Amino acid sequence: MNSTACPRGQSPLSPERNGNPNRQPVRKDLGLGTGSPHHFCIANRPFCCQRDGPVSQTRKALESPQAEGEIDIARLVDALVADAIEAQSSDIHIEPWDTSLVVRFRLHGVLKEFEHLPLQLAEKISARLKVMANLVNYETERPQEGHARADLMAGGVELRLSFFPVVRGGEGHSFARGEKIVIRIFDPSSRSFDVDELGFDQQTAATLKELLDRPTGMLLLTGPTGSGKTTAIYAALCHLVNRHGSTISISTVEDPVEFNLSQISQAQINHAREFTYPVALRSLMRQDPQVIMIGEIRDPETASIAVQAGLTGHLVISTIHSGSTAGVFARMINMEIEPFLLASSIIGVLGLRLVRKNCPLCSMPYQPDPTLLTKVPSDLLPEASWRRGGGCETCNQTGFAGRTALAEMLTVNEPIQDAIMTKMRTRKLQALAQEHGMQTLWESGMARSTSGEIPLEEVLRSVTEDPLT
Ligand SMILES: [Zn+2]
Repeated sequence: MNSTACPRGQSPLSPERNGNPNRQPVRKDLGLGTGSPHHFCIANRPFCCQRDGPVSQTRKALESPQAEGEIDIARLVDALVADAIEAQSSDIHIEPWDTSLVVRFRLHGVLKEFEHLPLQLAEKISARLKVMANLVNYETERPQEGHARADLMAGGVELRLSFFPVVRGGEGHSFARGEKIVIRIFDPSSRSFDVDELGFDQQTAATLKELLDRPTGMLLLTGPTGSGKTTAIYAALCHLVNRHGSTISISTVEDPVEFNLSQISQAQINHAREFTYPVALRSLMRQDPQVIMIGEIRDPETASIAVQAGLTGHLVISTIHSGSTAGVFARMINMEIEPFLLASSIIGVLGLRLVRKNCPLCSMPYQPDPTLLTKVPSDLLPEASWRRGGGCETCNQTGFAGRTALAEMLTVNEPIQDAIMTKMRTRKLQALAQEHGMQTLWESGMARSTSGEIPLEEVLRSVTEDPLT
């Protein structure tokens, strides 16, 4: 059993990547030979290789010169990135060796040679990458760093580029100058999903894991579009795979399947073929999986099947649109679910928002606008350590470094069950959940803002003290 890492996600948009997750990528995978010396191009002879099997994008770019034999450098660079993504590599290393410009991909932490390009392309490739990253393209004697976005696949891919001047053996006893280029690839389709990396506080992460340990019941995630529900739900499924290995049967019904996960059977809703949520779920129930993930509950029939599944020995994980975490119960009752069935089946509701984190390299103490400070609970003000990113090269002058989730976990205990059965109004139910220890999105945001992790403005943009207003 793999207890350390979740299987890496793969984009369903790239059918070739949906095969065996354990496949060996790069040269062998792309049909580029076995790595024996005669398979490598040598400098100035880029077209020397005779290879069988599929041709890499890079090779196609090299073998399709523009007018007068000039290689299309923009296409070549795009092809290199595409090949690196295809190979599921995390970095591209481009550096001048004695007789060639060597391109290596880093795969699972290990560098592997991918291609040897003619040395005379080095400057042009470097200049092209610098243009993409808005850097000084003629500067080759000082290190430079930047960001670029390659819209190679749906969702785009972020590249972080680093240029470092090096020398290498030149003609005779002289040294020639060159650059070592490293491109880090942040491919949303190759993320790993980990409950501990969602940004949840320890208590929320522990509660989530405890709920996932239960063999039966329904766990619902709620939040607006782009609040991290999919990432959290995939992290939950990966947690179950890592915990139980091949002994657990997990099936999903999604619209759309956003990431392809190993060891999980994922089904794609197809309305044109009348493969709807209810149709898929009714059929799936006959296969009796232990864990069922439903992309979204948005109609009474799906809601009813989900509740029944949660009551009959399955762990059901799904998302539902609702204005607030506590409002999920009213939403389910509006979808014709009997309160007593809901109270017995639902085990927890996780409310989510995504917020931007301060860049650790350029965040500095600051004093928020006094009008904003009036919104902060006064007991937090004396100890507050406000910080905000000022913008640096690493964060592309944004002041932010990635996003993190604010979360509120409403676990269903006996008092909450009683409240659901009496159709308690959402506001009272929210207060009851808080009485029983639910830290709200607002409280979570305030705690992480006053500790300097997130600017106050960012928290106020994302959550309100009273979600029901
Ligand atoms: Zn920064």
